[in-house]
Amino acid sequence: MFKFFLRWVDSWSACPNDTEQDAAGGIGSKDSKIQWMRILPFILLHLACLAVFWVGISSTAVLFMLGFYLIRMFAITAFFHRYLSHKTFQTSRLLQFIFLLIGTMSAQRGPLWWAAHHRYHHRFTDTHQDPHSSQHGFWYSHVGWFLNEQNFATRKEVIRDWLKYPELVWLDRFSLPIVLFTALAIYALGAWLGNHYPELGTSGPQLLVWGFVISTVLLIHATLCINSLAHVYGRRDFATQDNSRNHWLLALITLGEGWHNNHHFYAGSVRQGFYWWQIDITYYVLKFMSWLGLVWGLKPVPARVYATKITSPLALQQQNIQDQETP
Ligand SMILES: [Zn+2]
Ligand SMILES: [Zn+2]
Repeated sequence: MFKFFLRWVDSWSACPNDTEQDAAGGIGSKDSKIQWMRILPFILLHLACLAVFWVGISSTAVLFMLGFYLIRMFAITAFFHRYLSHKTFQTSRLLQFIFLLIGTMSAQRGPLWWAAHHRYHHRFTDTHQDPHSSQHGFWYSHVGWFLNEQNFATRKEVIRDWLKYPELVWLDRFSLPIVLFTALAIYALGAWLGNHYPELGTSGPQLLVWGFVISTVLLIHATLCINSLAHVYGRRDFATQDNSRNHWLLALITLGEGWHNNHHFYAGSVRQGFYWWQIDITYYVLKFMSWLGLVWGLKPVPARVYATKITSPLALQQQNIQDQETP
């Protein structure tokens, strides 16, 4: 019991090392079990959504929910994914920490854990060694893998390039206390607003439920959709070896991650919407930040990717039809 509690506080404590973990089933294996005690915070977070029937609603709470969703989604896609996992741009050590801290507030475990599992996903996409392979079915690739015992530890062997930053190791180890502290701070903010600005119509419990609980559950599932939905539903503009897809709606709710087939075709670019009609809000924000000197060295989409001569949605459609007609 104490061991479980300790792992909630410090995710690196009492975790098996990578070799032991692989011996227990291997990274893509579905065989290892779900540890219900370990995922209790995840279950409680979902159940807490029901509290919405008791706390009421206000435009303040809904706006906070949306705003906190968007800033954390940006931190996940720009910094957990495009920066930490793929190194597609550069930034200062301070900004690196700030955005990875905001990303950690998303309750998607620590930044190093996230990036390490994602690097495995790219290395072994949709094979048995992929932690959330589409071969294991929709629900396993959506949430089963995330709750599975074998995927709890940070796989340090593929993330060694970042271990030299003690502040990032700290974020990774104490990700759950950081999430709890965030929830507490939002509750305190709601209570303070309720006391000092009663015209806003919010309270501690209301801001906690809308601004943290619902916002975080939506954020988690939108992110997980890229592992599940984006490997089964959408267009395949590039003939990659995996099942990755492009979908405009997924791209909108994840600020650009829905161009997942593009991304699997070429992951080294900061941009995931390769064409002007492929809306990629994260890229636009990063571009704007580069004008301010906050980030730099944004890696472009190379010419060879564009060599398919796709210039418009119509041309893309025609090429898809040709592909289908060619035996
Ligand atoms: Zn993928
Ligand atoms: Zn990626």
